[in-house]
Amino acid sequence: MPADYYESLGVSKDADASTLKKAYRKLAMKYHPDRNDTPEAEAKFKEISEAYEVLSDDEKRSIYDRFGHDGLKGQMGGGGFSSAEDIFSQIFDGFFGGGGFGGGGGGGGRRTRRPKGSDYQIEEEITLASCLHKQDREIVVPYEKECGHCDGSGAAPGTSPVRCSTCHGHGQVAIDHGIIRMAQTCPTCRGQGTIIKKRCKKCKGGGKVPDEQTVKVHIPAGVDSGMRLRVKGKGEPAPKGGDPGDLYVILRVEDHPTLQREGESLVTDLPIDMVTACLGGELMIDGIDGEVEVEVESGIQPDDVIKIRGEGMPQLNSSKRGDLFLRVVVQIPKELSEAQRDHLASFKDLK
Ligand SMILES: [Zn+2]
Ligand SMILES: [Zn+2]
Repeated sequence: MPADYYESLGVSKDADASTLKKAYRKLAMKYHPDRNDTPEAEAKFKEISEAYEVLSDDEKRSIYDRFGHDGLKGQMGGGGFSSAEDIFSQIFDGFFGGGGFGGGGGGGGRRTRRPKGSDYQIEEEITLASCLHKQDREIVVPYEKECGHCDGSGAAPGTSPVRCSTCHGHGQVAIDHGIIRMAQTCPTCRGQGTIIKKRCKKCKGGGKVPDEQTVKVHIPAGVDSGMRLRVKGKGEPAPKGGDPGDLYVILRVEDHPTLQREGESLVTDLPIDMVTACLGGELMIDGIDGEVEVEVESGIQPDDVIKIRGEGMPQLNSSKRGDLFLRVVVQIPKELSEAQRDHLASFKDLK
């Protein structure tokens, strides 16, 4: 006859979840095979782990309270209990930051690598004019963090995810196709190996909740659309004390209403009237950062290009700027006053 689960853990029949967890933690530290390598300790470790598995699960606990050990035998079908190590790691992975048990002790200790947080990618729109100079921007980055209500387990506080009884925690089940046996993702737990019986209300069982952080990003001068800036350590936090991921900021440079960018050059049309095209003259246009004076030579032709030095975009990480290119568009008047018509007609006859 197995020991009474409450007695095994040394708790009263109305012990709550945190009392159970504390009691189990304390005993598991004492009897864990890494610490206490005797057959008695191993048996005790199994006993308390089994007790904890049942009592920490609301459903199993209520069956046990009503029907004792026999009730659970029927209820758990062929699945049986999880291994003592599985139960232990559910409690202790979060506690020790996934680093295993026993500090620097080599050999038998379980070692799990600390997973790095996910990298996060975000797009940031900037104006063309802002690319002229280096800039520091504060970007609000939405991301997900571990749910504090359930410590990321997804299970309602006081409960834990339990081993899936369909696949016995493997996440896969074998399906017979005639003579071939194939592994398939377990339909009950969708490959997780565990099942959450009572979901955490805050994260709806996902174990993560939305959050945001403000990140300072240094953008050098001369950046262009599609460039990717890496901000180290500003991605998603790691689930178990590992390093956070990195943030990648993808820049999108907004189109300018009149200026097109071609590398370091800026290009635009320069509409000039017929008379200025013939006689030449000076005019002002809007450049990327203020007015630019343009000298038009007499006799300029449609589609001629005027180059204005140093009014383009800077090279990456530099203050040296490319050029502005103006393509001449001569505007022929569609309507003429009588006086204009007379003057043009007489112009035609002049030598
Ligand atoms: Zn939660
Ligand atoms: Zn399963």
